[in-house]
Amino acid sequence: MTEHTREQFDDVMVPNYAPGKIIPVKGEGSRVWDQDGREYIDFAGGIAVNALGHAHPALVNALTEQGKKLWHLSNVMTNEPAIALAKKLTDLTFADKVFFCNSGAEANEAALKLARRHAFLNHGEAKHEIISTLSSFHGRTLFTVSVGGQAKYKEGFEPTPGGISHVPYNDLAALRDQISDKTAAVIVEPIQGEGGVTPATQEYLEGVRQLCDEHDALLIFDEVQSGVGRTGHLYAYEHYGVTPDILSTAKALGGGFPIGAMLCTDAVAPSLAIGTHGSTYGGNPLACSVSLAVLDELTKPGVLDAVQAKSERYKAGLAALNEKYGIFKDIRGLGLLIGAELTDEWQGKAKDFLGAALEQGLMMLVAGPNVIRFAPSLIIPDADIDEGLAKLDAAIAQVLGR
Ligand SMILES: *Cc1c(COP(=O)(O)O)cnc(C)c1O
Repeated sequence: MTEHTREQFDDVMVPNYAPGKIIPVKGEGSRVWDQDGREYIDFAGGIAVNALGHAHPALVNALTEQGKKLWHLSNVMTNEPAIALAKKLTDLTFADKVFFCNSGAEANEAALKLARRHAFLNHGEAKHEIISTLSSFHGRTLFTVSVGGQAKYKEGFEPTPGGISHVPYNDLAALRDQISDKTAAVIVEPIQGEGGVTPATQEYLEGVRQLCDEHDALLIFDEVQSGVGRTGHLYAYEHYGVTPDILSTAKALGGGFPIGAMLCTDAVAPSLAIGTHGSTYGGNPLACSVSLAVLDELTKPGVLDAVQAKSERYKAGLAALNEKYGIFKDIRGLGLLIGAELTDEWQGKAKDFLGAALEQGLMMLVAGPNVIRFAPSLIIPDADIDEGLAKLDAAIAQVLGR
């Protein structure tokens, strides 16, 4: 293959992304190599996707074995991996039924459409309103940017779907004021990911559940980022002990292979009757085989239990860096979804640290302009955490000019 350069990206791609200055070509575990053979420690995990790191043998095996057998049929036929995966997801969670798709936005699209249709069928068309939270992120389709709580993602795309309102996150009184018998559903991320790595408080999620019950509204948890082991539980709702009616999951569900799913209870599933919704690729055998392998690995004894210790190692490491440099005003998150919020002096500068880290051989993420985000492999070795934090130390020194 001819060698392609990062500069060529700008010639041939729509300019909606601004990727880093290097082109990665290979990964193994929590390490990645670029075209020049330079090595990077991966604290980004493909945005909370590569829960088992890169090129995990069990995933490579699932992909290649299924790849030799059957890739795709469409939903005109079902297939064994899809049934096996749905069985596994329903066994492991609150859910009774599953709808498969290919991304987080699609999982939310299915969740929101199901909620509207369920209210329509059971209460009539007046009950169609959706309440979401400010700073939330639910995907980039027109419906999901409309439900998402960040105005910048809908600017210029209006008119957007109606019947949607937003209330401040972690503010139960605001939700109490907004919710009514016209509310079809409330959608919440148990931890706001893109919005700045902000976990919900315990009282908030309990209160949201109660308000939904009082108003016959469905509770949707968007666990696209917080799910599939990220918090040390398979899904974050288990951490809170608050159960939704509908849950969307994607990102780590395929460990890097595109797949999404909408999980729900038997009480609401029938509203998505034959012909009401669909996806050509959704539930294809290739994606479902890989996802089965992801869940098999993550549910092996001890794997999710180890996430908490790794989380503490990160937070201690970040606290030590903060002792040295004093650039963070908050270090927060659950499990291996961690955010470090910059002090007022460094507001808007999260990207600068990202760039310096890449130069030092470390891949990480931002969550908005002020928060550095870490969403590494859930099985990242402690040695890689330590080595990555040392690189972050060097990157901070570089930005501060020390
Ligand atoms: C990433 C994300 C989405 C969108 O997922 P895509 O696969 O990019 O469509 C939706 N909700 C949350 C909470 C996310 O983090």
